[in-house]
Amino acid sequence: MQIDLKNLTIEKAHASLKSGEFTVTQLVNSYLEVIKEKNEEINAYREIYNDVLEQAKIAEEMFKNGTDTLMTGIPMALKDNMLFEGHIASASSLILENYKATYDSGIVKQLKKQGAVFLGRTNMDEFAMGSSTETSAFGNTKNPLDITRVPGGSSGGSVAAVAMNGALVSLGSDTGGSIRQPASYCGLVGLKPTYGAVSRFGIISMGSSLDQVGPFGKTVRDAEILFNAINDYDEKDSTSIKKENRLESQPLKKKIGIPREFLSTEGTDPEIIKNFNESCKKLEEAGYEIVDVSLPLIKYSLAVYYIISPAEVSSNLARYDGIRYGLHEDGANLYDVYTKSRGKGFGKEVRRRILLGTYILSHGYYDAYYNTAIKVRDAIKDELTKIFLEVDAIVTPTSPMMPFKFGEKSKDPLSMYLADLFSVPANIAGIPAISIPSGKNSEGLPFGFHIMAPFLREDILFTIGKDFEKHI
Ligand code: GLN
Repeated sequence: MQIDLKNLTIEKAHASLKSGEFTVTQLVNSYLEVIKEKNEEINAYREIYNDVLEQAKIAEEMFKNGTDTLMTGIPMALKDNMLFEGHIASASSLILENYKATYDSGIVKQLKKQGAVFLGRTNMDEFAMGSSTETSAFGNTKNPLDITRVPGGSSGGSVAAVAMNGALVSLGSDTGGSIRQPASYCGLVGLKPTYGAVSRFGIISMGSSLDQVGPFGKTVRDAEILFNAINDYDEKDSTSIKKENRLESQPLKKKIGIPREFLSTEGTDPEIIKNFNESCKKLEEAGYEIVDVSLPLIKYSLAVYYIISPAEVSSNLARYDGIRYGLHEDGANLYDVYTKSRGKGFGKEVRRRILLGTYILSHGYYDAYYNTAIKVRDAIKDELTKIFLEVDAIVTPTSPMMPFKFGEKSKDPLSMYLADLFSVPANIAGIPAISIPSGKNSEGLPFGFHIMAPFLREDILFTIGKDFEKHI
């Protein structure tokens, strides 16, 4: 049975499963074949779960009983930081290499109910720190569009799984851009939802005030369907937004803002700016008014992010003490156990962030760094909130640089951090943002167009995104 995986969408798959054109098992087997053929080279998946065919049978039952949903039988991938009971979740770190989840994360619980099929867990930057998937303790993931280049990060495995047709859709997590930047590098759609729209319960934390789980798909509609499937209140996540506080969609002003001064930041590739300007023209053709807006503070987002996120990393990762979870090294005393276990278990980038974060939070520096960053964060949020009274959305390129080659940035952390320039403001402000493919350059490398919308207004991203897709 030959299924056209390259052009398959969730709705097409659903229709075919429903009509009996193919079964869930047949669909799953088609993906497993691709994975068998391609994963050795691409290294998108760290592991294919051993119960995939059992999951497929459960989905088939749902079709038989008529309890199916759009996600029933849809083969998808999970990032290696998402807990799925009885399966390993390692955050691609040696310290959790053999850590088996003892419960389901909120998102897995919701998707299980809907009959989604989890094919496996995907490679990522260690504890989601990175923009290239090169900090994984388990090897690089290659960009399926050009295997000499990185797929982006930190959700590099999740994006590569879909880009190589080894999953129909997948989930990533985004703390500073880790869904949108890899989506842009591999020619896919990637959505970072509003902070609190999707449960963080059972997601291995990086920066708790910034982390958010979201979908990858080939189309805006696929991202929307997967987002709808996980967009729910979870009492186990104290930052989850209750149903009654969620917004109804409202009509659009059909007005979009470009933060010009921010775009002229040094270091943005001129061919990216050119593609961005062409993309804005397409939106004009689609009937949107495009205006320049002034957002003088968002350029500080990157600096704020690299204070707040390491601070949160240092406290979140304190739990890996060699005793409670994962890797344990014997030592002469307790301190020795800590240093040996953490020294062996954490990679270089993770250690750099823990050191930075501990310094930022230490006595005497807390006010100067952490508290100042929190104040600037609030000012950035206010600035964005005001602008959204005038425009529906704000657009930028997704990344200031094209997909780069392995090793090109990994020796210079600051140049790697710059990859997050346009994506971090959405995390700082907690607002939703999406990356949509916007064409390719002469070498066949993809561009990404980035749209940010007000708090809880994912609907705006989907509306503009679908209009954009039609005109590109
Ligand atoms: N690249 C950013 C970082 O290294 C973002 C990571 C993320 O979103 N998880 O921190």
